Amino acid sequence: MKLVSFDDFRVGVVDGDAVHDVTALLPPFLDALPRQRINHLIGHWSELGPVLSSQYRSAPRRELAGLRLLPPNPAPGHVFAAPANYAKHIGEIGNRSVTTGGRSAREQGFFLMAPGSLVGSGQSILLPKDSSRRFDHESELAVVIGRAGRNIPREQALSHVFGYACLIDATMRIEKGSFEEERTMRKSFETFNPMGPWIVTADEVPDPQSLSNRLWVNGELRQSANTGEMIVGVAELIELISSVLPLQPGDVIASGTPEGVGPIEPGDEVRIEIESVGAMTLSVREHAQRAPRPY
Ligand code: MN
Repeated sequence: MKLVSFDDFRVGVVDGDAVHDVTALLPPFLDALPRQRINHLIGHWSELGPVLSSQYRSAPRRELAGLRLLPPNPAPGHVFAAPANYAKHIGEIGNRSVTTGGRSAREQGFFLMAPGSLVGSGQSILLPKDSSRRFDHESELAVVIGRAGRNIPREQALSHVFGYACLIDATMRIEKGSFEEERTMRKSFETFNPMGPWIVTADEVPDPQSLSNRLWVNGELRQSANTGEMIVGVAELIELISSVLPLQPGDVIASGTPEGVGPIEPGDEVRIEIESVGAMTLSVREHAQRAPRPY
């Protein structure tokens, strides 16, 4: 099943070119907490999943193409991210992003990106107005957690996965002479984490480590790899993160980017496609307002 979030946090099931609006099949108290609908649905999937499966076809039908898609989970509790998780990517940015010795996610662990920086398919990545800094694209498989857990061994980890989505991790690079801002801040500008276009449930992705992961800028293929090249695979990422704190339903893990990371500029169009998951396109624009700080 493919789940979308759209308009004012309504929930839909994708059926070909159409979306069935299943919001009315969810508990009515969620109308007071619309951003939490997807977290609740994922956390109560054992009861609500069968309701959606059996009833979505009779729910109101909309054209997918006409919908304003939001991130498929608009309010995950956490967005975890793996640094340096494809061997060929380590080193291509230089020693400012990967420490001496080429340490990978296995040694560095994870970092956090702000959930407020997520944006949906078909929207825009907004770069700071009048910036002279370099902004890069990173093409990533996003993992959405289904079942909560702490200290999850990797052998059991995939049973905690609800589904998968495409994620572009847009990044402001550190430059010589800059203030060397924190990574979390450089990756958490509003719209810097496009996610979507939907969450595809894990039953439709039998092996998350054998998917092509590709990204184009203006039609030119920039990144092309296979998720099998990850250094720390999805199961081990779940083991690693849950060894530090509990994972919650709806949490997102950005699993890292392969080689081919490069700059994006206003006017560009970025497309990401992950096999068995989906594809989405976003435009790159400048923010309407100049920030009071120089980025
Ligand atoms: Mn990344």
